[in-house]
Amino acid sequence: MRSKINAGEAQRLRDKGLQLQIRSNDTIDRESVSAEPPRDCARCERLVAFRHEAQAAHRDWFNAPVPTFAAAEPRLLIVGLAPGLRGANRTGRPFTGDFAGTLLYETLLTYGLATGTYAERIDDGLQLNGCAITNAVRCVPLQNKPLPSEIANCRPYLSATIASFPKLEAILALGRIAHESVLRAFGLKLSDFPFAHGGEHRFSTREGTSLVLFDSYHCSRYNTNTGRLTASMFHQVFDSIRARIEIQPAAVG
Ligand code: SF4
Repeated sequence: MRSKINAGEAQRLRDKGLQLQIRSNDTIDRESVSAEPPRDCARCERLVAFRHEAQAAHRDWFNAPVPTFAAAEPRLLIVGLAPGLRGANRTGRPFTGDFAGTLLYETLLTYGLATGTYAERIDDGLQLNGCAITNAVRCVPLQNKPLPSEIANCRPYLSATIASFPKLEAILALGRIAHESVLRAFGLKLSDFPFAHGGEHRFSTREGTSLVLFDSYHCSRYNTNTGRLTASMFHQVFDSIRARIEIQPAAVG
């Protein structure tokens, strides 16, 4: 349960891949999963076949469920859709190596939520500060379009990830699919919290923790090329987040 796991313990469990029992919704109450899927997770037949194709074609790529990238004791969790084929699926870190990552990481650096330099590589030394980044679906989907069954299959990992961060105050959903998967992870009705760019939704977990769910259009190449999402619009969402949660300066040294 979130209220009984401190940050150090949660991180130890995450590191060891041990199982977290969480109670964020009825579905997850009945099962116990790790916050990180195994590299050979076989829950989604279609995505496993696609993973095997990528493993055969690109032996030097990561080609596995992409783990959450997290600072210690994050207060903000950013939830994207899924790894890009030549982005996170190649590099092994969420949003790293593709167009969406450039806007996201540059924004995190601007707002003090990351330190270092983003160089589109997992070994670029970039560190997150007070936040974590994950995806609603951990494996790369064909044409960036996971099936509803695949989103549901992967939700226990999202729920376990949320549960592993006891100091969480806010979640930023990048796009409607991430928004809806977060709501379902908490057992909330979608109609009570409609997705809207710039939207803020307050709710309490069953454990009594208060959280805010922020919404943004996904920072994808398509959305930025079409003008659906501009850097300014994206920054406004982070202005709202900064107004709600305290971002501590990154530790030096
Ligand atoms: S998308 Fe999630 S549930 Fe499906 S195979 Fe990958 S890790 Fe497993």
